[in-house]
Amino acid sequence: MKNCFTRTFDFSVHELPSVIFNLTADGVMLTDLQRIIIDVNPVFEQITGYTRSDIIGKTPRVLSSGVHNPEFYQAMNETLKQQGYWCGDIWNRKKDGTIYLENLSITAINDPDNEPAFYLAMLRDITKQNLYKEKLRNESLYDPLTQLPNRKLLAEKLQSAIHHANQNNKQIAVYFLDLDAFKAINDSIGHNAGDKVLTEVSKNLAQCLRDDDHIARVGGDEFAGVISNLENHSDCFPILHRILRAASQPLKINDRLVSLSASIGVTFYPQQSPLEGEQLLRQADVAMYEAKQSGKNVVKLYDEIDASKERKNKQVLDEISLAIKQNQLILLYQPKINMQTGECIGVEALIRWQHPHRGLLSPNRFIPLIEEHALSIDLGYWVIENALKQISQWQSLGFSIPVSVNITSKHIHQDDFLANLKQLLSVYPHVTPQFLELEIVESSVLYDVDRVADVIQQCNELGVAVSLDDFGSGYSSLSYLRKLPVSKLKIDRSFTSNIQKNTADLSIIEAVMALANAFNCEVIAEGIENEEQGLLLLKLGCNKAQGYFISKPTTSEQIIKWLEQKMTVGSWRQQIKLEDEALLLTYAIVEHRGWLEK
Ligand code: C2E
Ligand code: MG
Ligand code: MG
Repeated sequence: MKNCFTRTFDFSVHELPSVIFNLTADGVMLTDLQRIIIDVNPVFEQITGYTRSDIIGKTPRVLSSGVHNPEFYQAMNETLKQQGYWCGDIWNRKKDGTIYLENLSITAINDPDNEPAFYLAMLRDITKQNLYKEKLRNESLYDPLTQLPNRKLLAEKLQSAIHHANQNNKQIAVYFLDLDAFKAINDSIGHNAGDKVLTEVSKNLAQCLRDDDHIARVGGDEFAGVISNLENHSDCFPILHRILRAASQPLKINDRLVSLSASIGVTFYPQQSPLEGEQLLRQADVAMYEAKQSGKNVVKLYDEIDASKERKNKQVLDEISLAIKQNQLILLYQPKINMQTGECIGVEALIRWQHPHRGLLSPNRFIPLIEEHALSIDLGYWVIENALKQISQWQSLGFSIPVSVNITSKHIHQDDFLANLKQLLSVYPHVTPQFLELEIVESSVLYDVDRVADVIQQCNELGVAVSLDDFGSGYSSLSYLRKLPVSKLKIDRSFTSNIQKNTADLSIIEAVMALANAFNCEVIAEGIENEEQGLLLLKLGCNKAQGYFISKPTTSEQIIKWLEQKMTVGSWRQQIKLEDEALLLTYAIVEHRGWLEK
């Protein structure tokens, strides 16, 4: 075939740029119009297991896996004929029989008379990326204990239920369910048995639903769901009461009979004013709270509730707004270190509310309450400004410490975000922008990736680097992530905390390291709680870490003590030659912990 080809045309296959064949990271296959294979490159041989001599003269059909139907190949041929190009993912079979996923692009190449003469196929084995994507998707969408969908998947289902209701003129009910007195059960029978209770209850609840309905676990003992395709509100009550009965079914756990009940709040879509899934869930949550107040083991409707709840929400917002004005908010700082050198590479600013009556509140107690509200933006600027002030104060004491701050999705999406950031930086001319970093949570980027990518790019141009926080906890497509010019990926604590027990989490961390390499960014592991986790991370090539084992979040004064200790201990450290990674890590961490405890 090769000879025939070289005779017919006034250039030969050997004249094709050798770079395509030999240097490209992709497999390359050249066929004539009848799809007879004329040549393949070494990467093709590696991917498929077929050598040149095996495959030349055959057609790509030898690679066929049987996964796709004839229509798939017909559509491919049709597109090739009409557009001279086809690109997509295809399941193929290697010589050893293994089926793999290939990213394939085929281009028709014309002869000097501009007639298609042969096809050039470029291919890549993307099975691993695909597996990783699937795994991330599953892990990020299902609750590991009960295997029910989690809040994120529920949000997707709710979105499509709303869409379906709009299209078909139907109604949906959104419900929130909380087990009554579950904490007492947990305390009396222990957490493992408590987990069994949750698993059993979940199974019972799921059995009450019809095919189009959903239930998700959204918190410890909290569940929420959607009942679709309703003609009237009242159509959902039989299902809700079935759910209530299922939740009250006594369970035999470790030879003990456990009796439970649940409180359910429900709201409906559509309502008079347009509203989104998240608001529906909030309404159902408020109704559930009312169900608890009115004696538990009941279903309460949102519209039965007077406006006092709304007033309470406003009260919380006013309180937080006052907290900003009255300096009740403080920033603590948690160091990030290079585990190999012991060097502190910066700190993360973590907010706390010194509440006059309720004591020191962690961000999870108040940030979610304001996340959707404009107040979260005021709070965001308060954090940036105070971080800059702190960097400047540390600088005046002779310490150069980069500080990263957490930014909400709503905040980064503001039109004037960059202008305000520049303005705040200009108030601290002695602070170089490189000392400020922003952390945005991976999932918050997904609403408008292009816009966020643009903001990140402009931050980079300002000198302010951006990290993707809680990486791996949200489901992001790789092509989205590729667009984001972030400098660091912070591996979510949920992966770090399990690496000793769960090899899947180890693999995920390995995959994240590879991704970070491809995206040209650094990796920081969050939530190191013991030495072994650090060692495993070092073995995986992840040198940077943050976590309680290194230091809990602490005050700005403690951070200084910490660094001062580092200076004195540092010289002693240099006298010791430590080549063993294990010792290096123990050393780095012990050194840092030592500073804090002094
Ligand atoms: P994050 O940005 O992922 O911060 C890390 C959280 O993990 C912090 O919780 C930190 O104390 C905790 N942590 C660090 N190491 C360990 C460890 O080894 N084990 C365990 N169990 N936890 C560890 P924190 O301070 O309660 O903050 C929670 C979240 O609240 C933060 O997660 C961040 O998303 C948000 N947040 C904190 N400060 C701010 C802020 O100023 N603005 C905004 N918008 N969000 C903030
Ligand atoms: Mg963070
Ligand atoms: Mg984080």
